[in-house]
Amino acid sequence: MKAIIKKFQLSKVESITFTLKSNALNIFFEPKNNLWIFDLECRLVGMFVNGENYRRTLNNKFYHKSRYTENGETFREIHEIPREKAISLLKLCQLMIDNDFDLPKSFQHFISKISKMDYLALQQSAMEFDNIYLPISILPPDQYMSLVIQMTEGCNYNQCTFCNFYRDRPFKIKSADELEIHLNKIKTFFGEGINLRKSIFLADANALTVPQNRLVKSLELIHEQFPQFENYYSFIDVFTGLKKSVSDFKQLNELGIKRVYLGVESGNNDLMLFLNKQQLNKDIIELTHNIKASGINVGIILLIGAGGEHFAEKHLIDSIRLLKQLPLSKGDIIYLSELYETNSNYEKSMAEQDITLPTRQEIRQWSNEFKSELKKRYFNEVQLSVYDINQFFY
Ligand code: SF4
Repeated sequence: MKAIIKKFQLSKVESITFTLKSNALNIFFEPKNNLWIFDLECRLVGMFVNGENYRRTLNNKFYHKSRYTENGETFREIHEIPREKAISLLKLCQLMIDNDFDLPKSFQHFISKISKMDYLALQQSAMEFDNIYLPISILPPDQYMSLVIQMTEGCNYNQCTFCNFYRDRPFKIKSADELEIHLNKIKTFFGEGINLRKSIFLADANALTVPQNRLVKSLELIHEQFPQFENYYSFIDVFTGLKKSVSDFKQLNELGIKRVYLGVESGNNDLMLFLNKQQLNKDIIELTHNIKASGINVGIILLIGAGGEHFAEKHLIDSIRLLKQLPLSKGDIIYLSELYETNSNYEKSMAEQDITLPTRQEIRQWSNEFKSELKKRYFNEVQLSVYDINQFFY
């Protein structure tokens, strides 16, 4: 559907523009350049008000996004805003659309629904969302707009000191019946709002650990339920990835898996032991070769700042050495995940080794060193991207 645009002049200087697209409805107010974005179920997705950027998550948390610059480096910040402020920002939009606009029929249904979608209605929607999903702890940055399907719950390793993503749940593979119910609930919940989703992400941490036959059946079921999506993504870990052959991966590629994301963290063995992530470089190399041979791309995640100054030099040298042995090419991504907010487990292990927690500025410095080394090797062939887990929202 082509966007339908309708602009109303409210006064000499003020106007409001409604834009109905195939995946969202935007309401734009001039001259302040305020913008509210809704999915096609009329749930607020985000807004720009008085020059500030806000996002709403599906569990009805509102975040303010900003940036600051220090010593020439730009850092992003995200803060949850209080409920009262969220209510007032939402009301600003609702008061505007209360005007008696002579809108085309195609808009009327949406506008009347938006005017009823106040904070309490959004809260109700969030309760439905929480009833379908365990907290979606993290996604790769290019997958924030995916449709998440929790084929598994938690992490089957769950022992890396720096990671608290899945400590709140035991690892579990959903049964065929549970998956079917999960998919039905997702379909009902997203409704027309599904048009905003760009791909399928198989969660949680190790969805591909599902035995191959069962995994294939699950993917076929997902295709039946959501035929509009062709591209599937997932995390993968070395422990389960090596149980799959190249032909297993080829079969998954044919079923839509386009890229898998591997938490390599570092090529330095001592640092990996310190992080309690027991994976070997030789296994990462073998797994990456198998995945790439199947036609699936990889997202390699490096944990910048891990182990602080104590490990910084060895981390850089050994990680670059490891990456040079991976058959990376166009379509792959290297993520530099800056570890600047940590948990008590990790902080305890740093303190026990008498290592000072690095500042955000120091971590950015190391990140820049990684970038410059990686650029020498890959030029623009492999995408390099910062992965800020604190910017994640769903
Ligand atoms: S980093 Fe990955 S493997 Fe380690 S505990 Fe977290 S999710 Fe599990």
